[in-house]
Amino acid sequence: MNHRTRVLNSETLQFDLGAQTIPVIVERKRIRHIYLYVKSAGRVVISAPVGSTEEEIRRFLTEKRGWLEKNLRNMREQTPKEAESYITEERILLWGEAHPLTYLPDKRFSLSVREQGAVLTAPPDSSRKAREDFIKKQLRMRLHRAVAIRLPFWEGQMRLHARAFTIRDMKSRWGSCNTGTGKITFHLQLISMPPECLDYVIVHELSHLVYPNHSPAFWAHVAAFLPAYKEIRKRMKDY
Ligand SMILES: [Zn+2]
Repeated sequence: MNHRTRVLNSETLQFDLGAQTIPVIVERKRIRHIYLYVKSAGRVVISAPVGSTEEEIRRFLTEKRGWLEKNLRNMREQTPKEAESYITEERILLWGEAHPLTYLPDKRFSLSVREQGAVLTAPPDSSRKAREDFIKKQLRMRLHRAVAIRLPFWEGQMRLHARAFTIRDMKSRWGSCNTGTGKITFHLQLISMPPECLDYVIVHELSHLVYPNHSPAFWAHVAAFLPAYKEIRKRMKDY
């Protein structure tokens, strides 16, 4: 049976689920049986044969009521909820821009972020935590790629060299520099801020290789490479 058969007409009917009334989209197709789907964001769709009556459809919905309630409940529980400030129920913050997040059930995990919005695909039986972890991993990869480009740029400008860098989900700081090992750590949350914030943290941490403190000489060193650093710092406090 081809469930993708062309929709001949579509209407919405209200179905009473006890505690709530839900809209059900009825799509009539050249098919023999009635099919019920719970789609992303809890959208309920019924595919029905062309000649089926509203009464038949309501009877079918009543029979499937238990199944429907269970699936709607699961979908609500599985929606990615607020975990960190850069992953919220409805959006992903990437480089200072909020992208509305849509979830689509699929066999595989994937995340695509476009101007119109972000789409997360994940297996329907995946837990909320698994989805959040996946998003975090993707964001970490994107930040890693950006640091791998911006850090060498600033190293060239400042004639300083970090031995290595890592990305961590730190609570209180945007970055840190181990002056002993020359290793710089970047906060994962930098991915949510405008790109100049990452530049600022790179310049700041590289400057610690010369001044392992926050002395006036340190700040003069930062300002020499990034004159607007004070404004950037101020903006970062909003994230
Ligand atoms: Zn510092």
